[in-house]
Amino acid sequence: MLRRASAALIQWIDSDYCPGGAEKMRNEPDKVDWIRVMPFVFLHAGCLGILWVGWSPIAVWSAIALYFIRMFAVTGVHHRYFSHKSYSTSRFGQFLLAVFAGTTVQRGSLWWAYHHRHHHQHSDGPEDAHSPHVHGFLWSHIGWITSRRNFPTDYTKIKDLAKFPELVWLNRFDLVVPILFATAIYFAGVALETFAPGLGTNGPQLLVWAFFVSTTVLFHGTACINSMAHLMGRRRFKTDDDSRNSFILAISTLGEGWHNNHHRYQASTRNGFYWWEIDPTYYGLKVLSWTGFIWGLKDVPQSVLEEGARAEHAASVAAAQTAAQSRHEHGHSPLKHVIPAAAAIAVATVNAAGNQIPRRADGPAVHKDVSELAHELNRPPTPPASNSSTQA
Ligand SMILES: [Zn+2]
Ligand SMILES: [Zn+2]
Repeated sequence: MLRRASAALIQWIDSDYCPGGAEKMRNEPDKVDWIRVMPFVFLHAGCLGILWVGWSPIAVWSAIALYFIRMFAVTGVHHRYFSHKSYSTSRFGQFLLAVFAGTTVQRGSLWWAYHHRHHHQHSDGPEDAHSPHVHGFLWSHIGWITSRRNFPTDYTKIKDLAKFPELVWLNRFDLVVPILFATAIYFAGVALETFAPGLGTNGPQLLVWAFFVSTTVLFHGTACINSMAHLMGRRRFKTDDDSRNSFILAISTLGEGWHNNHHRYQASTRNGFYWWEIDPTYYGLKVLSWTGFIWGLKDVPQSVLEEGARAEHAASVAAAQTAAQSRHEHGHSPLKHVIPAAAAIAVATVNAAGNQIPRRADGPAVHKDVSELAHELNRPPTPPASNSSTQA
């Protein structure tokens, strides 16, 4: 017990410290490690500091700005670069990206990428560390990150990243960047108090808002993709998991809300597959590519876009059929709802013609195919495979 507690204390500083071996730790049952998780609890508790430091417009705006700037780091760096390698950069560029992503305080980029690739391999199956369908909402949102077995990074599963010692170092000592970042914010507040007293802020106030509040909200915004994006929204693609597309989540996470798209085709730099699916992370990466800092952004294949368009069409036909069925069951004539006057005129015209208009026994073949497709959509979903081999 005492050995475990002292190991957890050392792990605050050195994430890779595992006396019994990382593999043994990963095979333990899920259990919150209260000592190990104290820095994370401290992050949340720091938000209460607003009771003492008060607020100022500059402090609140800094918190909002740092939320969105660092959400870009979560989605554009942790996710679309390290987890999926959806674009390229130089070795030094990659190091800078890892430092930038370190300011998000979501552990190291390699820890992030390892767990995320694991999620894609086992999405919504028993092995998935954060599926709301397997472990419940709260565990998928916040519980899994506090579990002892989810602390170590399995470097053997991310060999493409583990071969860079500078990335492994940042991942191992994952508190270094956050501490430097928080210190810089504190001294920025001190400088503003000295040189621009009219702004009404100071070191402690800026630290509480721009670091503690902003980082805590950033964590929960990100965590919504693990929890909410597998519960809320529409499923365009019939993936093996229960991932969904949600406009609200896309706005709050700069494009990650198009999660069903992403589960269908993970290699693309963009998660919003069509122009109307807003994806600010992609726009930011596109602009960055014009500077030459990153390159080789990957697009969505035409075949996947066409598959999406077919699925949308089948879904709209199915929705129309369901609506017609419900009107029929409730005894309403569709003519009461859909342009009643025009429909009445049309009926009158047909009747006046003495029913001489020839009727086709069957609709055109294309309609038959579509209704069959729609019928498919109405079938209950097949349960997700426990050992899906969808590769990240
Ligand atoms: Zn997912
Ligand atoms: Zn992903």
